[in-house]
Amino acid sequence: MNMPDFEYHAPETLQEACALLAELGRNATVLAGGTDVLHKMKTGKLASGHLVSLKRLGELRNIRSKSGHGIVIGALTRHNEIYNSPLLQELFLSLPMAAHTMASNQICNLGTLGGNIVNGVPSADLPPILIALKACIRLVSAQGERSMALEDFFCGAAQTRIVPGEILADTTIPEQSTTGSTYIKFGLRRSGALAVAGVAVSVTVDKNILREARIVLASSAPTVMRARNAEGFLRGKKISGKLLAEAGAMAAAESRPRDSIRGSAEYRRNLVEVLTKRALRKAIDKGHI
Ligand SMILES: Cc1cc2nc3c(=O)[nH]c(=O)nc-3n(C[C@H](O)[C@H](O)[C@H](O)COP(=O)(O)OP(=O)(O)OC[C@H]3O[C@@H](n4cnc5c(N)ncnc54)[C@H](O)[C@@H]3O)c2cc1C
Repeated sequence: MNMPDFEYHAPETLQEACALLAELGRNATVLAGGTDVLHKMKTGKLASGHLVSLKRLGELRNIRSKSGHGIVIGALTRHNEIYNSPLLQELFLSLPMAAHTMASNQICNLGTLGGNIVNGVPSADLPPILIALKACIRLVSAQGERSMALEDFFCGAAQTRIVPGEILADTTIPEQSTTGSTYIKFGLRRSGALAVAGVAVSVTVDKNILREARIVLASSAPTVMRARNAEGFLRGKKISGKLLAEAGAMAAAESRPRDSIRGSAEYRRNLVEVLTKRALRKAIDKGHI
């Protein structure tokens, strides 16, 4: 496997990177940790004349609390930095826990949150829990910037609403009334395996009533998806084992999985049913967000 020729650029600021991408046009690819880009180039799935590395953009590699807004995570933050962040462990533990389910230590030392999101693959582990936590993203280009809910970013298998020249700058998890959240993933190995199916859940519970539940499925449709029928069914209801089991069955019914080497569609649907029930129970009982 030989790397094709390309020109390497390492701008020093976000502004410089945006200007460079605008100048190079469609022949340029953004490079973050490179765990996907370099693999695709080596295997001939991606040809790019210019790689624009973000590695010098320290401004995108941090996790900070923004008063009144929640937590902002720079796109260049690596999976191990999410896992080890005291701030996230204190405020949104379900996110470091999701990062802990990912890949090998080597990949987690290189792979970034931005790359995990922009890849747009339905098996990515961080988008489901971020969507459950109502995260928004900020996209920056030479033309300016725009923000959107992360759940609106994905529009098809490996397709997102990012346009050439844009850089994902950061992701914000807002302050919220959520009382519990979790992400449960089923892989073919205990760790370091892609999700055959995954379910992220956030709940708002008040006196044993589910005021709100967000259920987000990974590897269960062409995009990461919310199980909105199950969410609507749960709203305002008294919590019981039967209720959670019914919600699991509804989430499975609205999932749209495919057959793949890691599991059949039917197997995935069964997983969604079981994992949704378990994730709801865990988020309700353990309460960690
Ligand atoms: C062996 C192996 C195991 C893996 N296991 C898992 C797993 O368990 N769970 C999981 O979710 N993923 C897994 N992955 C996938 C991958 O590592 C992650 O998705 C990772 O987060 C990608 O980040 P990166 O920084 O390496 O992205 P890169 O490879 O640098 O980029 C990926 C894509 O995103 C674009 N991009 C990156 N950053 C930005 C940005 N800030 N703005 C605009 N565009 C950007 C690139 O142009 C490219 O299209 C695995 C990969 C490998 C090779």
